[in-house]
Amino acid sequence: MAYRGRFAPSPTGPLHAGSLVAALASWLDARAHGGTWLVRIEDVDAPRCVAGMGDHILSQLAAFGLASDEVPMVQSHRAPAYQQALQKLIASGCAYPCRCSRKDILMALEALGRERPRHAELIYPGTCRSKSETSAQPANASPPAWRFRIDPSNASVHWHDRRLGRQQQDVETLVGDFPLARADGYATYQLAVVVDDAVQGISHIVRGEDLADNTARQILLQQALGLPTPNYLHTPLVLGANGEKLSKQNDAQALDTSAPLAELNRAAVALGLHPSPATPLSEALRSWVGQWQRLYNPAHE
Ligand code: GLU
Repeated sequence: MAYRGRFAPSPTGPLHAGSLVAALASWLDARAHGGTWLVRIEDVDAPRCVAGMGDHILSQLAAFGLASDEVPMVQSHRAPAYQQALQKLIASGCAYPCRCSRKDILMALEALGRERPRHAELIYPGTCRSKSETSAQPANASPPAWRFRIDPSNASVHWHDRRLGRQQQDVETLVGDFPLARADGYATYQLAVVVDDAVQGISHIVRGEDLADNTARQILLQQALGLPTPNYLHTPLVLGANGEKLSKQNDAQALDTSAPLAELNRAAVALGLHPSPATPLSEALRSWVGQWQRLYNPAHE
């Protein structure tokens, strides 16, 4: 199978040290396998994205010597493909309409006596799961959101992560029927990422460990859509001074593209590689491919 990997940033802010680690790791893995590396701009959640940020991220990556091998895919151009996948899931009974607001969900959880841990996502209690949409709604009702119907007999998902090892998640109890499309028509990250990874023939996903929790949902969606499951590797997270994950939300500093080797050296250290005294950039990157190969041993997969 041809190796195809990708880095899929959301253009909600510039790349920061944490996102550079994920970008470098996915690039190194692709190069270590002699494969293709793609960049995909994940601007499906339009309200959270910043105009022009996709191009800015591409220019930041270029300054670090990381350029997509093919023209970058942009999710905001892909709505018909997501709609098609949603229709397929509806037709096979794997998706159902939901009109619950966040407040409705909170109230339903409270009525069930389920406490919600602070910061945690709400576990959908299945309120709309068995409602018949057509009979209950007035003709002028606004469009519903859509949720994935988890099959309880298939809800415990197991997978192997090349860094984290054996993984398991019971999606029904830990997540619940999750959203596929919002009432305003936008596909969710889970649906868009699964559709695009398949259409781009992505064989290997290398991304930050903060996204590992999404993997089980994505595997369930791949199965429901009859798509292959890629190989996964989740990279270590870079923590900020406060001990929290470095993110655009907690004001991670923008990367200094005028000192690309210094920034890349830091990213390489976070990945367990040794800083490279080599210049130019292309040689430093090449020296890490060998180190990466020894760490993650692609030849023996
Ligand atoms: N767009 C996602 C993010 O920036 C990453 C998606 C992925 O790698 O699966 O957090």
